[in-house]
Amino acid sequence: MLKMENIAKVYRTDTVATHALRDFSLYVKEGEFVAVTGPSGSGKTTFLNIAGLLETFEEGQYQLDGIDVRDLGDSARSKLRNEKIGFIFQGFNLIPDLSLFDNVDVPLRYRGLNAKERKARIDEALEKVGLAARRHHLPSQLSGGQQQRVAIARALAGKPAFLLADEPTGNLDSLMARQVMELLESINKDGTTIVMVTHDPDLARRAQRNIQIVDGQVSDFDFGQSRRA
Ligand code: ADP
Ligand code: ADP
Repeated sequence: MLKMENIAKVYRTDTVATHALRDFSLYVKEGEFVAVTGPSGSGKTTFLNIAGLLETFEEGQYQLDGIDVRDLGDSARSKLRNEKIGFIFQGFNLIPDLSLFDNVDVPLRYRGLNAKERKARIDEALEKVGLAARRHHLPSQLSGGQQQRVAIARALAGKPAFLLADEPTGNLDSLMARQVMELLESINKDGTTIVMVTHDPDLARRAQRNIQIVDGQVSDFDFGQSRRA
């Protein structure tokens, strides 16, 4: 589970303090698929970056699978992130001159896995996203939707408990967006908890639960609903 209570996050420059999150509380249970919407600048990316242990916070409590994140040092935070979290971004963030196989391999190389284990994970992840046959291709040889599926494979290869997605369909046309959404739904059915920021109300509606962030706070808790067919 992912449990935030009364989180405050302030970005300071010499002259300005921006309260990106204030009194922010959210509980995501294991196995949920949560869609996060809200106006531009409301704190969605800040929330995701804190959830993914990319950023720290000033006040409040954050527990990830029962581990109190607040007081972890940098290396313990990185270790927990590597163990638990996979990220997907709007811009795919693939390395242009590496094959799909080698792109998926990049984060695995940091984990001290041997070549055989890495290959098994890469094959399995590329299989899951339907691109095993293209493993030797470069990202530029793929459509945007396919590139995002490679980015998803890269996240999956780390076997994360949580997949955090920041506008994963923002650069895709609606057909490719639906395909990526279907893939995320399938990954969620396999047991991965997903939190997805999106501007697309049609995609948000397909998640199990919608929350809205307004002005750095959760404005709309929608617990009961399960809209999925
Ligand atoms: P959203 O993802 O909903 O568009 P963000 O989380 O990116 O919102 O931003 C929330 C607020 O924090 C905005 O006012 C934004 O300008 C500010 N902010 C985000 N990152 C930084 C930063 N690194 N330095 C200063 N202000 C920031
Ligand atoms: P936006 O949320 O403004 O539409 P993106 O989805 O491209 O933009 O990126 C969202 C956020 O994710 C950015 O604020 C950035 O700080 C963060 N981000 C993007 N790529 C990476 C990365 N490789 N590692 C860590 N953080 C990243």
